[in-house]
Amino acid sequence: MSDLICSAVSCIYNINGVLCSARNVHIGIKGISNNIEDTDCETYLNRNLKNTLTSIVNTNLIGEVKQIVSSNEIEMSPQVICDAKQCTYNSGDLCVAKRVQIYGLKCEDSRCTKCEVFVSKS
Ligand code: SF4
Ligand code: SF4
Repeated sequence: MSDLICSAVSCIYNINGVLCSARNVHIGIKGISNNIEDTDCETYLNRNLKNTLTSIVNTNLIGEVKQIVSSNEIEMSPQVICDAKQCTYNSGDLCVAKRVQIYGLKCEDSRCTKCEVFVSKS
């Protein structure tokens, strides 16, 4: 499982603009040209009451508890399922990168997010 950091503060799973509290994250790919700009986090959910309830089923509660007692390590990294087959770190639709970094600063929806670690196989 990859360590994951994410700057999408407007996502309901985001903690302090750094950590992701989701159990599973799905990285999608838009369009046909595979590059960083075409990736997005499809697990992104805007912060509102409806999504608070929706997000509960995918929240990494055990990771959150571990994170509280371990402030130096990333303990709540999600499993990252990824559609970007052209990425070097994609192995059977799972991400095997040691650390995944999701961009989401100032994003208001998932389309604005992207995986900054994407490296094309070609
Ligand atoms: S945008 Fe994706 S990676 Fe970032 S906090 Fe939300 S679900 Fe997690
Ligand atoms: S590093 Fe590559 S395989 Fe991992 S989530 Fe990002 S685009 Fe997908």
